[in-house]
Amino acid sequence: MDFELTDEQKVWKETIIKFSRQELAYDIAAVEKSGEFPWDAWRKCAEMQILAMPFAEEYGGCGVDFLTTVHSLNSLGYACKDAGLVHALTTQILCGLQIALFGNEALKLRYLPSLCRGEKVFAQAITEPGSGSDALSMRTKAEKQGEAFILNGSKTFITNGPMADVVIVFAVTAPEKKTLGGISCLVVEDGMEGFSKGKPLEKMGLTTLQNGELFFDNCEVSCDRLLGKEGQGAIIFNESMEWERSLLPAVHLGTMERILEISVKYAKERSAFGKAIGNYQAVANKISRMKMNIELGKGILYRCASLKGRNKRAPLDASICKLFISESLKQACLDAVQIHGGYGFMCEYEIERDLRDSIASTIYSGTSELQHNIIARFMGL
Ligand SMILES: Cc1cc2nc3c(=O)[nH]c(=O)nc-3n(C[C@H](O)[C@H](O)[C@H](O)COP(=O)(O)OP(=O)(O)OC[C@H]3O[C@@H](n4cnc5c(N)ncnc54)[C@H](O)[C@@H]3O)c2cc1C
Repeated sequence: MDFELTDEQKVWKETIIKFSRQELAYDIAAVEKSGEFPWDAWRKCAEMQILAMPFAEEYGGCGVDFLTTVHSLNSLGYACKDAGLVHALTTQILCGLQIALFGNEALKLRYLPSLCRGEKVFAQAITEPGSGSDALSMRTKAEKQGEAFILNGSKTFITNGPMADVVIVFAVTAPEKKTLGGISCLVVEDGMEGFSKGKPLEKMGLTTLQNGELFFDNCEVSCDRLLGKEGQGAIIFNESMEWERSLLPAVHLGTMERILEISVKYAKERSAFGKAIGNYQAVANKISRMKMNIELGKGILYRCASLKGRNKRAPLDASICKLFISESLKQACLDAVQIHGGYGFMCEYEIERDLRDSIASTIYSGTSELQHNIIARFMGL
């Protein structure tokens, strides 16, 4: 496969980098302290059509191919230091992909234009207090009554949850069928009776991102709000994970590229024992590992994104991509802090934030342990 950037991809990448440096260079520490979501930045990103990229023009999108979207998110992860904002944007795009792939025409027309414009905030709700990795053992129920489902249960850790206008909710519709046909996916809107949202949960990283609980208490959801068919929830879940495991690693790879740059610069500038610290192999090796992992990550990311862009299944590639890039990001952040010594530990240098943010990357969208399990299963274990 030839992954040389096309002219279109180069333009998107350069435009997003320039835009991020001009418009998204706000004081993240101040936003973190305020506990507010950076709405102004969100709106600017929507105006830049970042949210609209992969969607068809008839639904308000740009009609850009998936690999180009991935390249653009990679540039955003590189040039925008607010990983919480970028994660919120990525989640919105992922929800849009689910609606575009599985929604009926009415749902697409109703939701995709406002999703692309960033007017409505979207979330996907799978995890529950009692089920995370074992996601499909969820307890939230949607019982069919006539032309509607009655939704009962709760979800937790949901990205964009506290501010969501629309939530894609996975729930059990036929307990006797278990995961094979027992789970369905419903589109719930804020304001529906019986649906409520919790406050943002405090986190160690991704502080500007809002994550929270969602509650469903006899919430009536009409059958035409089903994504896909009744019982197709596990299929949508698996498909959605493959897209997510391309989108988020694209962002992470961009962050790693930024971290590599600042680490190289520091290793050249900082001297100890009469030499720049980059002359010491123990420092240089950390930098060479970052570079190696970035280049290896690009290979698996582009392959995975290219498969998804052609609507092919890529469960193994997606798991390898997610596992390798998230673990590499965490390692790169740890190494960058170490290279910067005491300064790396100080908030002023902003690397400690990248490290805190990176911890979540090996947890959400399936933990590293779960990715290992998936890969091992493909090896027949
Ligand atoms: C920042 C953030 C954003 C999130 N956003 C969303 C969202 O938008 N929507 C959503 O639905 N969820 C979201 N989540 C939830 C996330 O998907 C879960 O936290 C994750 O799947 C892990 O589930 P858990 O926290 O219940 O951990 P558990 O499943 O309880 O796992 C605990 C530990 O046990 C390990 N473990 C569990 N089972 C196995 C096994 N079979 N083999 C080996 N090890 C195992 C895990 O790897 C982990 O180390 C988010 C989480 C975070 C941190």
